Amino acid sequence: MIRLSGIRKSFGRQEVLKGIDLHVGKGEVVAILGPSGSGKTTLLRCINYLEKPGEGEIRIGDQALDARRAGKKDVHALRRRSAMVFQQYNLFSHKTALENVMEGLVVVKKMSKDEARKRGIALLEKVGLGAKLDAYPSRLSGGQQQRVGIARALALEPEVILFDEPTSALDPELVGEVLAVIRRIAKEGITMIIVTHEMGFAQDVANRVVFMDEGVIVEEGPPAQLFGNPKEERTRQFLKRLT
Ligand code: ADP
Repeated sequence: MIRLSGIRKSFGRQEVLKGIDLHVGKGEVVAILGPSGSGKTTLLRCINYLEKPGEGEIRIGDQALDARRAGKKDVHALRRRSAMVFQQYNLFSHKTALENVMEGLVVVKKMSKDEARKRGIALLEKVGLGAKLDAYPSRLSGGQQQRVGIARALALEPEVILFDEPTSALDPELVGEVLAVIRRIAKEGITMIIVTHEMGFAQDVANRVVFMDEGVIVEEGPPAQLFGNPKEERTRQFLKRLT
């Protein structure tokens, strides 16, 4: 379903990703953990080509892209196969919740406004925001804004949703409602890659956990193994610091 091979990325002289290989199966939920600065967000942004990798191949479904040969058209085609949920929500502040969700349907999916409106309403109801269709982001809590962000990502019907620390900007009391929505859509079999600091959440929602440090994947495995019996010393140290 998704295959990353030999992904490298540098910012100036700093190599942030040092050859990442990762496979994600259809319907799999993969959580990426690791210390701050280890390259997690950069990796996610490379999958969506918000950052162009220096080297490596990204395959989503039957669309493959070699970073050294990527043309504009290929990048566009690859981008449409994933959707990103951002730390800071990134909603249009001058559009209502419904308009934010409709935007991609009208612009990317070329749906009629009527159709987009129907679909947008259904998606916002799904994330528990049926009563907030016409609210502007400034009138919504962080948790509600993030749920709009999730509805917007779902609207694009991507092959994979990429979550970049979706709860890290939220007040603690709002984290639960967002995790509950993610948990619910994970159960529907949508493929997801989630960068998160929420260990409990990673443990119960992910099929596989990937531990990154200093631009490499140190270790990966089912949550029970990675949390309960990590193989690598670096993973052990990281987990120990959290408890
Ligand atoms: P993580 O998500 O694991 O915290 P990041 O992928 O955000 O790590 O960052 C990895 C490293 O890359 C950090 O040292 C960060 O400062 C650097 N970095 C990330 N984005 C940029 C950028 N746009 N320009 C320069 N350096 C960057």
